[in-house]
Amino acid sequence: MKYSFKIGSAWGIPIELHVTFILLIVAVFGLSLYSALQSGNVSIFSPYFYTFFLVLFLFVFVVFHELAHSVVARHYGIQVRKIVLYPIGGVSEIEEIPDNPAQEWRMAIAGPLTSLAIGAIFLVIALIVSPQLLRVVPLLSTTGNFLFDIASLNLLLGFFNLIPAFPMDGGRVFRALLAERMKYSDATRLAVTIGRIFGIVMVIAGFVFPNYFLLILVGIFVYIGASEEGEQTIISTKLAGVRIRDVMQSEVGYVSPQQTIAEAIEVMFKKRYHDVLVIKDGNLIGVVSWNELMKVDPGQRGSLRVEQMPLKHISIFEDEAILEANKIMVREKIDLIPVVDREAPLRVVGVLTSEAMARAFDEARNR
Ligand SMILES: [Zn+2]
Repeated sequence: MKYSFKIGSAWGIPIELHVTFILLIVAVFGLSLYSALQSGNVSIFSPYFYTFFLVLFLFVFVVFHELAHSVVARHYGIQVRKIVLYPIGGVSEIEEIPDNPAQEWRMAIAGPLTSLAIGAIFLVIALIVSPQLLRVVPLLSTTGNFLFDIASLNLLLGFFNLIPAFPMDGGRVFRALLAERMKYSDATRLAVTIGRIFGIVMVIAGFVFPNYFLLILVGIFVYIGASEEGEQTIISTKLAGVRIRDVMQSEVGYVSPQQTIAEAIEVMFKKRYHDVLVIKDGNLIGVVSWNELMKVDPGQRGSLRVEQMPLKHISIFEDEAILEANKIMVREKIDLIPVVDREAPLRVVGVLTSEAMARAFDEARNR
């Protein structure tokens, strides 16, 4: 099932709303509408809808925050798959976290700095428009002045993300700075421990100061986020040593370009592949994906030939890391990669399936 829905894109980066975010907006709107109906003033400009508009606008600025991460990522040649908005903020899904600490901290700090800059600009405008606000010092509460509230929410977003705990941006900056002085996995472990401590402190603070009970939720989120980040880094460190040849199957099923779609589907089922290899006279031609095969009308499968299908031109060497294969599978949306000889790159020596890969990930997790 799809849990997020595209609402637009910026610089070719799709921006999606997660279903929990849509529920939040609906809930805030419902609550606003309820109080408005109770009071008899249902105008959308009544104060009852203030929080609703504030939340909507804040998320526009969350998108700016995420785009800042993306722009720096692109600058270093790292692909950004999409930006997803969750109720707790945005997440930029990037192809890989750079193992270059200097790139990682610059990428991570771009978001909070953007939020702080937006906050500062709105603060200046708000104070020029209404200088009397200088006397108000709201702590984590709204003033009713839209410009001022947008300013303080952006400042909060910026400062909050600078907390040196995973999964906040500050955690990544912190890990990168540590990694310049120690091994990447040790830096991650230390950053994870500190992230967990922050999470626990937030939960305790939420209980001690009931006005800030939201800290309990945030603390749990930080604790879980830190732990997940740690587990993922440790799995990839363990997997870094696993080569394609350790997990590939050397017995290969394939079709030739002249064979029909029906025959290709037969090979796929017999070999339990999700896609099918095309080989002609011992040379690799490409891979036809399951999706392309399934698009063919069942009535035409007996007559249409494999050579009439669009092919994906992918392959990998047996001495490469399986993390490399994982990247190709995710990027090409494919479940099978032909493994070829380094000396003769068209000669297939094995096949790597997503099942074999999933088994390797499981083993690394349990090792
Ligand atoms: Zn961020």
